[in-house]
Amino acid sequence: MVEEDGMDLEEEEEEDYRSESRRKASTVFSVIASVLSGFLGNWACFKVSEMLNVPSQAFPAAGSQQRVAPAGQSRNKVVLKPGHSLLDWIRLTKSGQDLTGLRGRLIEVTEDELKKHNTKKDCWTCIRGMVYNLSAYMDFHPGGEEELMRAAGIDSTDLFDEVHRWVNYESMLKECLVGRMAVKPSPALQAHTEKTESTHLNGLSAPPSLRPEPLSAPLPAKDHRPRYDWFQTDGTVNIVVYTKRKIPSAGCAVVDLQDDNLRVEMLLGRMSYLLYWRLSSRVQDHVDVQTAHSVGKVQLCLRKSVKEKWTQLGQSLEHHDTFIQCKDRGLFYRECVLLSKTDVTHNTQLLRLQLPPGSRMQVPVGRHVYLKTSVQGTDVVKPYTAVDQMLIPPSQSSAEVGSDIHLMIKVYPDGVLTPHIANLPIGASLSVGGPEGSLTLRVLRDVTHLYMLAAGTGFTPMARLIRLALQEFTVIRKMKLMFFNRQERDILWQSQLDELCTKEERFEVQHVLSEPADSWTGRRGRIDACMLQNFLERPENSKCLVCVCGPAGFTESAVQLVRQLDFSEEELHVFQA
Ligand code: NAD
Repeated sequence: MVEEDGMDLEEEEEEDYRSESRRKASTVFSVIASVLSGFLGNWACFKVSEMLNVPSQAFPAAGSQQRVAPAGQSRNKVVLKPGHSLLDWIRLTKSGQDLTGLRGRLIEVTEDELKKHNTKKDCWTCIRGMVYNLSAYMDFHPGGEEELMRAAGIDSTDLFDEVHRWVNYESMLKECLVGRMAVKPSPALQAHTEKTESTHLNGLSAPPSLRPEPLSAPLPAKDHRPRYDWFQTDGTVNIVVYTKRKIPSAGCAVVDLQDDNLRVEMLLGRMSYLLYWRLSSRVQDHVDVQTAHSVGKVQLCLRKSVKEKWTQLGQSLEHHDTFIQCKDRGLFYRECVLLSKTDVTHNTQLLRLQLPPGSRMQVPVGRHVYLKTSVQGTDVVKPYTAVDQMLIPPSQSSAEVGSDIHLMIKVYPDGVLTPHIANLPIGASLSVGGPEGSLTLRVLRDVTHLYMLAAGTGFTPMARLIRLALQEFTVIRKMKLMFFNRQERDILWQSQLDELCTKEERFEVQHVLSEPADSWTGRRGRIDACMLQNFLERPENSKCLVCVCGPAGFTESAVQLVRQLDFSEEELHVFQA
């Protein structure tokens, strides 16, 4: 059975998870920029409506300048004392100072013992079976010590996963490791991820009882799960995945062939279907992916290294044939090569990254990937929304699709990751994880008027949305972008946007500058009610969607103003990466 966009199927499948989602409705957001610095982030959760499609995790980390708090609630980011940046933390962890108070000894911690360490000066927490002393980190936490104290003396795995699931805490807190839990502290530890392998720290692995169990796929009532089949010829092995829903043009397949391991993930709305094998025999390190979008079929073709008959495809690996929510799937990284860097503005570059030959990544519109790199020996991770090489790129052949990723990166001189990325030479390798993200095309269903409020690099998720809306959603009669920047030189793809305006009757862009030159004749200021009143028209018989993305303060104001104009939660989508 094939249903349009798989939307109805998704809805039914998600019903199974709804009670869980409600439980987690007090989702927290933590910041990103400071993410790493604040990886334990701001757990001062604010309730966020599920209708906003706000992801239940990490980006931006709580308290971040990128994070929006609900109406009336202020953000929780604290000003760190001088000498307490992420880099300072990394330096401290390398200084040889005893950060656990145990002089490098690793111990087994009972639940009762853990509970005792619940003060700022003596703050232990358990994440995925491993216990850390967070006391030294208190002053480095951008979300503030109060937020960190929410983890004090308890198993904070759930909190951590909701906020910073993708952050490499093992690396960040390596020197704070106290030991492992002696007993099973809570069911939360069984909750997942594929990070099992990485829980080996300082020679210590999580206790067996605490290791995440393989994910079992909760079966929906009806068999809406994708299924697969395989066949071979003399020289090829072919895997066919029937997703049972229509696949958007951007595709949904993420394929990684590393050595003999083949990992195939299908991103189907909010759901993820995973196939994972150790192949029976060697294949060449190139995978061909063909998608039949309307029937929902994806076919992979692998070339055998030796022409011989395979008796089986391979041995199933962890989480093989599971169908779960994307947010519950562990992040998978692959090494990409930096192919080119192109200046977009004075401080923003377009990076083109080439996936390894055995990888293909079809990033759904509005989703982000994670860049991971080592800064002074500590892994630093940050999400970036994938864009196309230009606003409306020339059509690519299907063979090219999914072999490169384009990311638009603003370089912050005082940032930890971006100056590093800016200085990377062509040919350098970068670890790319994901993709992830909350946008599903369901929100665009029947929309006639699409409004986009973007600030700064908050434009990036809009870029592919504009293209998608123009090329594939003919029902959309009007799409308008209000683009907020400091100065004219900060406007991303300005000439392309202006050109699109002249070419496309349905598309309109309005620029607003907060720090304009005297010569600027356009709109000035920051987002306010007056600007939006005229911009967000609601003609009769229209169905509107307002998408918002930008710095936290901007997003917060935009959401409040849009709500005040009587737009419902269903009519609002906030990109939080
Ligand atoms: P910026 O600091 O240059 O600001 C751009 C404009 O945003 C300003 O001109 C102003 O009009 C507005 N603005 C900024 N702070 C505001 C506030 N407190 N109240 C009202 N308006 C405000 O922007 P930038 O440096 O390009 O940062 C862009 C942000 O967007 C980053 O925080 C980035 O993480 C976020 N972002 C999020 C996603 C996502 O969630 N998917 C994707 C890309 C970027």
